[in-house]
Amino acid sequence: MDIILLGPPGAGKGTQAERLVKDFSLSHVSTGEIFRAELKNATPLGEKIKKVMATGGLVSDDIVLEVVGSHVKKNESLNFLFDGFPRTVPQAEGLDKILATSSRELTAIVYVNVSDAEVVRRLSSRRSCKTCSSIYNVATGPFPAAGQKCSRCGGDIVERADDKESVVKERLSVYRTQTAPLIDYYSGIAPRKFIETDGSAPIDEVYDAIKAAVKDRLAGGR
Ligand code: AMP
Repeated sequence: MDIILLGPPGAGKGTQAERLVKDFSLSHVSTGEIFRAELKNATPLGEKIKKVMATGGLVSDDIVLEVVGSHVKKNESLNFLFDGFPRTVPQAEGLDKILATSSRELTAIVYVNVSDAEVVRRLSSRRSCKTCSSIYNVATGPFPAAGQKCSRCGGDIVERADDKESVVKERLSVYRTQTAPLIDYYSGIAPRKFIETDGSAPIDEVYDAIKAAVKDRLAGGR
């Protein structure tokens, strides 16, 4: 059972991912997190992708597919939740091949739909923990602990460099041109597995809708 979480930056995918991972015993594969770790550790890959990440562009499909392909191969016994991947149609086609090679199949593609205006509003008030990457939002919550410390690990809360307004606008435009075509791609090739939710609803409501729909797909329903 593998699931894809799709939606613009700031749709709340990270928050929903945490819950899905727990309830369905999934292994969270966030390509954004993987790349941020490469940057933090100043690896050769980190050096290669530094500029494109800082400006809100996309890492090349070849690199992304190589990273995800080897991760899937190394952890074949796990069920995956892909978050922030695929991001382009060629990545989706590459994922189809990766899954087919290991006789795996997608259970659901969860699309969290949020307007551009809401994305800009949310991301400009989003903060994250420097240590454990937990997400906070100074306008809508969850709020960090006093002194801008992480409520989970006590780490420092910072604004991600790519959450600055100019970069957010670039990320959104990249999303609309390169990632949004995946909505047609998946609703076309896998209409029964495609789940659309209104991401502007309260977090718990969005999650309840996603959870019920995933359960339904697992039971083989429509
Ligand atoms: P995210 O945390 O998912 O918003 O990702 C942060 C940044 O990492 C993106 O703005 C891209 O530069 C890069 N990135 C993450 N996932 C992908 C992907 N699947 N394809 C290309 N670039 C990606």
